[in-house]
Amino acid sequence: MNPIERILAEYPLMILDGAFSTELERRGCDLNDPLWSAKVLMENPDMIGAVHEDYFKAGADCAITASYQATFEGFMRRGLTKQEAKELIQLSVSIATKVRDNFWADPVNRKNRPRPLVAASVGPYGAFVADGSEYRGNYGLTREELEDFHRERMATLVEAKPDILACETIPCFIEAEAIVNVLEEHPEMTSWISFSAKDGTCINSGERIEDCARLLDGFPQVAAIGINCTAPEFVESLILEIRKGSNKPIIVYPNSGEQYDAVTKTWHGSSTGMCYGDIAKHWFEKGAQLIGGCCRTTPDDIRQIALWGRE
Ligand SMILES: [Zn+2]
Repeated sequence: MNPIERILAEYPLMILDGAFSTELERRGCDLNDPLWSAKVLMENPDMIGAVHEDYFKAGADCAITASYQATFEGFMRRGLTKQEAKELIQLSVSIATKVRDNFWADPVNRKNRPRPLVAASVGPYGAFVADGSEYRGNYGLTREELEDFHRERMATLVEAKPDILACETIPCFIEAEAIVNVLEEHPEMTSWISFSAKDGTCINSGERIEDCARLLDGFPQVAAIGINCTAPEFVESLILEIRKGSNKPIIVYPNSGEQYDAVTKTWHGSSTGMCYGDIAKHWFEKGAQLIGGCCRTTPDDIRQIALWGRE
């Protein structure tokens, strides 16, 4: 069994964590930087550990590591050596693992919940380019080029021994295909594949999520299929569409509901006004078994999920 199957065999729901950068900014980090939260790996790794701990305390069964935007190319452009870049990418996993192990060592924390997983975040190519193209999905790259982009970082993350990979905010099917091909080079590792969607039926590239789910369904190393970094109003429909294409566990961790402007790199508009935990319960009833939050969600939102998910 893969780590997600193991948890879902005992619990109906696996709770993910929420936004990382929002919490880092709340603690005073300036993330206006192409490296985004990966910058904090260089400058303040303790703060990353503190955010993971907050989410475990809030009820998260999984920490998604701060490697979303951590790439060899990005760090080396900043003047680091290749070895230093490798150490920082792996540090993202070791921080989360250490915090998880400390958290789980206390019996008080082990009541009515599974031992949390460490999921190594694999951000899309667009997150590295940092031009918002992960919200458009028009990279103009071949599958082989995308495989080359992902190969070394995925191998580096796997070497750091996370429980699973979190391949997230994927805007186009060709990138999911590239990732799954590279994943087959690590037969002992499983991953979830999570797309970013632009409406209730299509991922950001315009491809139907039902088709993406059907194509991924045949890969045993894909442990869950879903969506993240997407407006919450589309999630219910997306869950039903994914289910048409695959019986694998469905993972959803959308944004809070505010809109991101990739040009100005700011958020505007209001969130849905509903309690995040209530919306999450609705997604659970529609068939999602792994639920958390992406941009602008908080430990409080995750706590709201745990209130009904672990009752
Ligand atoms: Zn997001």
